[in-house]
Amino acid sequence: MTLPSRAGLDAVPAYRQGRSAPAGASKLSSNESPHPPLASVREAVQDALGSINRYPDMSAAALRTRLAERYGIDPRLVTVGAGSVELAAQLIHAVAGEGDEVMFAWRSFEAYPSLVRIAGATPIAVPLNAEHAHDLDGMLAAITPRTRAIFVCNPNNPTGTVVSAAELERFVSAVPHDILVVIDEAYVHFDRTDSYGAGIELFRQHPHVAVLHTFSKAYGLAGLRIGYAISPLEVAENQRKVAVPFGVSDLAQAAARASLDAEDELAARIHEVVTQRDRLRALLADAGWPAIASQANFVWVPAGERTEELEALLREGGVITRVFPGEGVRISSGSIEDIDRVAATLVRTEAIA
Ligand SMILES: *Cc1c(COP(=O)(O)O)cnc(C)c1O
Repeated sequence: MTLPSRAGLDAVPAYRQGRSAPAGASKLSSNESPHPPLASVREAVQDALGSINRYPDMSAAALRTRLAERYGIDPRLVTVGAGSVELAAQLIHAVAGEGDEVMFAWRSFEAYPSLVRIAGATPIAVPLNAEHAHDLDGMLAAITPRTRAIFVCNPNNPTGTVVSAAELERFVSAVPHDILVVIDEAYVHFDRTDSYGAGIELFRQHPHVAVLHTFSKAYGLAGLRIGYAISPLEVAENQRKVAVPFGVSDLAQAAARASLDAEDELAARIHEVVTQRDRLRALLADAGWPAIASQANFVWVPAGERTEELEALLREGGVITRVFPGEGVRISSGSIEDIDRVAATLVRTEAIA
């Protein structure tokens, strides 16, 4: 006798976490913030600890009100989740099921294909173009009567490319209104182009756009699990139905609110990460690696056959990266010291060569 197993789960790959790093190494494998939590955020979490015998506020009312005020929207349009990966799942479950299609670019965020399959829907992966960016025309051409949602990851993980505000506007205008366009802006804070903030503007102007933001990356709260979505009302109401109850702790909510109070301090950190990202790309390019320009907190090196070589080289230098065998290496932008270490490793190998 074998235990039951839901039909279709064979096709679902388990999510692969970025490699952990041995003590003393630079962990540049998961696009985390290299900075420890702010003192004010620690304090807010400390205060919230006193009530962990109680269930959290499932509606996250205080945080949702804050966010709604920031964007000048109805709080009912804001939903929170245990990281934006949970919100991506909520959105998929809210609009798609058996027989439906959910589209995204590929390569993009690794969770998309699994989340779509878990919902019983069919993932449609449209290859990135030669510049490692979204092929928006290709995605429009791939729409069928079964398409329910389209994810646009902007900036894209793992390539760091962006689609401009104008390109995104043209795309959203061309997608029929009975398909939800989800703009995943996990890395928007690191974007120094005009697509920064484009998701929210498109949400305001179109009835079929949802935007995903997270506190994990720029705000440095990856370990606490909290993100938010801004969605059309009927989608937001359905998200609340499919969400796992009490998924977002009061600790996470308190930390998120404290982070919104500390945006000036965080902006300085984000600026440093952006500076180190550009330095990282220049270092790699100078050493002869095909690193491409990034608007996120990481750099993509489509090294092809030399992928494993680059990964091993950096690992021997104490730098842990995310490797996509045969395709490329994604290196997160770390602290100044982390990128110094990358520099030292690359210089050493140049000397050997
Ligand atoms: C990291 C990431 C997320 C979400 O991370 P959470 O920690 O779940 O908020 C969402 N989308 C993309 C593209 C990411 O890279």
